[in-house]
Amino acid sequence: MDTKAEFDVIVVGAGIIGSLSAWRLAQEGYRVALVDAGQPGGQASNAAAGILSPSAEVDRAGPFWELTALSLEHYDQMVEELQEESGIEVDFRRSGVLQLPTLDDPGGERLHERYRWQSALNPRIRWLSPPEVAEVEPALANWHLPAIYAPEEAQVHAPKMVQAAVRAAIWRGVQVWSGTPVEELRLRPSGQVEGVQLARGAVRAHVGVVLAAGAWTGILAHTIGLHLPVEPVRGQVLGLHHDGPFLRHIVFWGSRYLCPKPDGRLIAGATEDAVGFEGRTSLKGLWQVSQALAELGLPMDSLVFERAWAGLRPKVPDGLPVLGPVPGYPGLFVASGHHRNGILLSAITAELVIKWAAGKDLTPWAAFAPERLLTR
Ligand SMILES: Cc1cc2nc3c(=O)[nH]c(=O)nc-3n(C[C@H](O)[C@H](O)[C@H](O)COP(=O)(O)OP(=O)(O)OC[C@H]3O[C@@H](n4cnc5c(N)ncnc54)[C@H](O)[C@@H]3O)c2cc1C
Repeated sequence: MDTKAEFDVIVVGAGIIGSLSAWRLAQEGYRVALVDAGQPGGQASNAAAGILSPSAEVDRAGPFWELTALSLEHYDQMVEELQEESGIEVDFRRSGVLQLPTLDDPGGERLHERYRWQSALNPRIRWLSPPEVAEVEPALANWHLPAIYAPEEAQVHAPKMVQAAVRAAIWRGVQVWSGTPVEELRLRPSGQVEGVQLARGAVRAHVGVVLAAGAWTGILAHTIGLHLPVEPVRGQVLGLHHDGPFLRHIVFWGSRYLCPKPDGRLIAGATEDAVGFEGRTSLKGLWQVSQALAELGLPMDSLVFERAWAGLRPKVPDGLPVLGPVPGYPGLFVASGHHRNGILLSAITAELVIKWAAGKDLTPWAAFAPERLLTR
């Protein structure tokens, strides 16, 4: 670790958000340090199911829909470059998403209302009658349910994405410092963000600091007197296996999902628990996920349990990501609050980070700007 080296940008946090941003910054020619308290991806990003689904995750038309849809559009080209520069395949596939009605919407009226506004914004989104569902997804033939079908929505292997981003970043010259907690952000008397304080000393950045510390972002913001209300929301998932062919598509019912992976695994998720920084699984959470699978009528006997895990999602009160520079603190860009959609939103987040570094206008993205949340 060369703390005396000259950097343009220091990225704090090597989850998917920080790693991908560091790689893209380096592609643009910036000298970058990527600093993580633990191992890259070791927190929320490695826990993610890797689903990339605006239709299942966004509840109304507006800027959040646009942000998620644009991020998914970036994926094809981004993945191609990432795989080429890292040598790591990230299992990106447009496996399609089916949304089924929830138990409290048995006739699917609410689901159909959702279909009406989503299909107006994305004509590739279709409404399937129960027989059409059975045709598209034979594993669901017995349930006679309608569905929203988003055929181009996708998934990746989230831990491989982080690994690829870090490897590509290193290949581009980024210095990656693992096991290196940032103790505080450092300010000049003018309020300009100067860099970060590590146990081994201060490190400076000429352009600024990208704060991408996931659920820990608020703690670091506090070191310069900013109240940024990022809270951890624990998500618990089950890793399952089914012998022989089963699901082809990612299936959502409400916020619950089952995601088939190319290697035959299935990820079932996920809880949303307000339990502070407790990152272990609980029996209650695993029971809740199992119960949701049972409600859907899935063949519980033939779903083999492999393992369970949890991660802490970063969330702010309005549930939207926090993306942008901080007024009064030149040189600071916050990239956090991605809650359930950090993998999906990583592509567009990295693009906004690059625009910020280049001094470009971010007002089209004002809905996500930090000032909506800040108090000093
Ligand atoms: C169970 C589960 C399933 C999910 N499924 C999906 C999904 O299918 N699709 C999707 O899009 N999203 C999903 N998500 C959400 C997604 O995982 C998160 O939104 C995303 O990982 C957030 O990324 P991040 O880089 O901001 O945070 P993290 O991955 O948590 O990374 C933050 C990093 O900051 C580091 N850090 C913290 N403090 C410091 C410090 N002081 N100094 C230096 N480094 C520090 C941490 O060590 C950590 O590595 C899921 C989340 C969970 C928990």
